[in-house]
Amino acid sequence: MSLAKATYLAGVKHRNPGLYDWYDFLKETERWELGRLKEYQLKEVKKLLLIAEKHSLFYKNYFRKHGFDPVIHSLDDLKQLPPVSKEQLISENDKIHTHLNFNKKFYCETSGSSGQTLTFWRNEQWDSANRAAILRGQSWYNVLPWESNIYFWGYNIETSKKLKTRILDILQNRYRVFDYRPETLSRLIGKLKSTTYMHGYSSVIYELAKLINQQQITMHLPKLKMIKGTSEKIHPHYQEEINKAFGRKMISEYGAAEASIVAFECAAGNMHVTMENVLLEVEEGEIIVTNLIAHSFPIIRYKLGDYIKLSESDTCACGMEHLVIEEVRGRVGKNIYGELHKYPSLTLYYVFKNLFFKYGLKFNYQCVQEKKGSLVVLIKEPFSNQGEKLIRTEFEKYFKSDITISVIFSQNFHSYSEKLKDFISKIE
Ligand SMILES: [Zn+2]
Repeated sequence: MSLAKATYLAGVKHRNPGLYDWYDFLKETERWELGRLKEYQLKEVKKLLLIAEKHSLFYKNYFRKHGFDPVIHSLDDLKQLPPVSKEQLISENDKIHTHLNFNKKFYCETSGSSGQTLTFWRNEQWDSANRAAILRGQSWYNVLPWESNIYFWGYNIETSKKLKTRILDILQNRYRVFDYRPETLSRLIGKLKSTTYMHGYSSVIYELAKLINQQQITMHLPKLKMIKGTSEKIHPHYQEEINKAFGRKMISEYGAAEASIVAFECAAGNMHVTMENVLLEVEEGEIIVTNLIAHSFPIIRYKLGDYIKLSESDTCACGMEHLVIEEVRGRVGKNIYGELHKYPSLTLYYVFKNLFFKYGLKFNYQCVQEKKGSLVVLIKEPFSNQGEKLIRTEFEKYFKSDITISVIFSQNFHSYSEKLKDFISKIE
């Protein structure tokens, strides 16, 4: 056994004793038919609702307030319960926790887009099931968890947590990239040759790919099996650069700390929902997640805050029948205000998607609104007459004359100190 493998397995035994049982379960259920998966989900939701009713003061009151009977007979029955928001998870935090005894639990914190922090305790089985979902996804690419990998992450790691982070990195044979200056990324190029997979923020992996392409470096990466983007939107033009630099596309892992891994892209290119761990619903285009494994901090009908689209087709070339998320469209976000009307910030996604698919224009953008009726459009790429003209035309289609835009080229808005945002509002 290699040292990396032994180290990894020792770490798992200590930290996540339930990991491999759940992984084996997921490898079995990946062959289940859709009907059987839904039956399993119903059984688990029933269990979860009873735990919540009995041990979570918040849910007990919430069910009562909305006349909801936690003894359900079908997955549809669950729809009678109104969704909960992140604000509720934060403000009702203590009352949501079940305070049950678990063999082990982990303290988690995650920051929201508007700056508030959500903290919660994750029971060991939840943590292990979540990790197992990642391992299963990676198994579709023949990636073994102890293989050497580069991790593009590390935004805002507090000094007090650095040692712990470093230990976890060693256990997982993980080389973590903390800073994203071109010099640092250049130094990575040598390291890539021995890497089995890379993962992390898609905007950063994209920057690395661009750097390699600009310098016309030809990469030989015989060991590379997977490039996985997480946490940020993977724009279509990212794929083009990444493919050119590394010879393969970036696959997508979609989830959130409180919701767990919601979906993982298979080798046939479809994002399969982790139906064993989460129950997913879509209402008015918005994703609603029930976390089936979160018994320490129940998350039931939670508005995760993204617009998504489920695929209509129920077959996949990989053979799995798990539901497929066709597209994660973007954050349910703030509004863009015109003089007369307001528009969802998601509109920006359509504007730039059109520019790419119609004209092949690859713009990295960020829009900032300081006052109603006007919008500043920052573009990373250098100025071009034609570019500006097409941006204006595309914006007009959605906003007419309700919003005046100013387009500024050659802007560096990605600070790499936090996730890349496509819209910042200073109005609300
Ligand atoms: Zn598939």
